[in-house]
Amino acid sequence: MFEDTASALFGVEGLQVTGVEAAPDGGIEVWVATDCAAARTCPECGTVSDRVHETVVTRPRDVRRAGDAVDLRWVKLRRKCANGECPRKTFTEWVPDLPPRCRITARLREQAAGEVAGRGITPAEAARHAGISWPTAHEAFAAAADPVLDQDPAPVAYLGIDEHRRGRARFAVDEQTGEYTVLADQWHTCFFDLDGQQGLLGQVEGRTADDAAYWLAGATPAWQDAVQVVCIDLCSIYASAVRRMLPRAILTVDLFHVVQLAVKAVGDVRRRVVRARYGRRGRSGDPEYGIKGLLVRNLEHLTGAQFEKIITTLDRDRYGQEIAAAWIGKEKLRDVLNLRARITGSVPCQRQVRDRLFAFYDWCAQHDDIPELVTLARTVSRWEDELTAAVITGVTNATSESLNRLAKLEARLAYGFRNPRNQRRRVRIACTRGYRRRSRTATTRQAQSVTGQKLHPG
Ligand SMILES: [Zn+2]
Repeated sequence: MFEDTASALFGVEGLQVTGVEAAPDGGIEVWVATDCAAARTCPECGTVSDRVHETVVTRPRDVRRAGDAVDLRWVKLRRKCANGECPRKTFTEWVPDLPPRCRITARLREQAAGEVAGRGITPAEAARHAGISWPTAHEAFAAAADPVLDQDPAPVAYLGIDEHRRGRARFAVDEQTGEYTVLADQWHTCFFDLDGQQGLLGQVEGRTADDAAYWLAGATPAWQDAVQVVCIDLCSIYASAVRRMLPRAILTVDLFHVVQLAVKAVGDVRRRVVRARYGRRGRSGDPEYGIKGLLVRNLEHLTGAQFEKIITTLDRDRYGQEIAAAWIGKEKLRDVLNLRARITGSVPCQRQVRDRLFAFYDWCAQHDDIPELVTLARTVSRWEDELTAAVITGVTNATSESLNRLAKLEARLAYGFRNPRNQRRRVRIACTRGYRRRSRTATTRQAQSVTGQKLHPG
């Protein structure tokens, strides 16, 4: 409770405002005195002392007032300890917001930390705004972020695993043995909550099966059991880690990457055929070049005229027909993926998926003179179980891809990170920001007096 309105407005518990002056630079000078019973207690022996040794004026940094600098002048007393046997002869007053030897108010630290965690600006920018140094802003942020990040993630039903290129690798060479040790790996393996809103669950350095398994092994058995589906890119390394650590979970592949493979196969065929036909790479003016953008589009998104253009272009000769075969192969693979409940409205059964997969394989077998189609069919058959599971469950890695974008943005804002631990902390905070915002319980505000005076006189 504050004694007067000015102190209540200033709002640091234990400090009483004694005067406010306009500073020459446009800010304000706030003079305060200590108004706190605990400040009279010796920190060493706990004796309450009223014997004043001297008066000192300190100038701790404080938050700005509407953008203007606040020059805080705290007139505090150095007291003599009343206990004659106390090893501490004198002590200065302190309040919880400004502990002994602290030159920055706790609320200024909190503000800097909150700006980095909540608004996504860099510690350097937060430090500049608060008028403190980078290390101070960084330490405040780390102190606020680490307890949040150290909490074990809540159970997730759908887990996503993806790699993220964190920056250039750094090595150290042992001069005696000539051996290299990795100081910072080029890659981070990231774990995502695909179903709920926890965002990025955690990261480990490196992208080997052991790296991924290491993180999964750190989870509690209950957490591991709760994972029903794990979605990965077409990456056999993570598949082996998941099979080792979460044997009961259903493994699925991200369907976007499957389509991407098929689209790439069509492009490869087109480029090879055009080179065979013209003896050079394709260029504007070639009929095949004119439809290259249409070939990567989904069939159902083509207009009638666009579809007609593809058919007339590719139907001219055997070169065109080769491209057409690859294009139809891509659409046959997409037919499999289009069985997803998101598109049809009902969950497909395994039989339906296998039937359409068979039609795709059959098409590829009929055109086994196109090596790109054969490679595509081989890759798909290697991931057949995971692909089928992905179509049935409808789980995609879209969340992790979108959060990867945030991770990249964070690295750009920082102009790259030298310290991988800092990077993980900043990225993780950025990728869980939405979750923290949503989970913050709405606090009910009630009109309450802070000065002990009536709010509405009369
Ligand atoms: Zn004492």
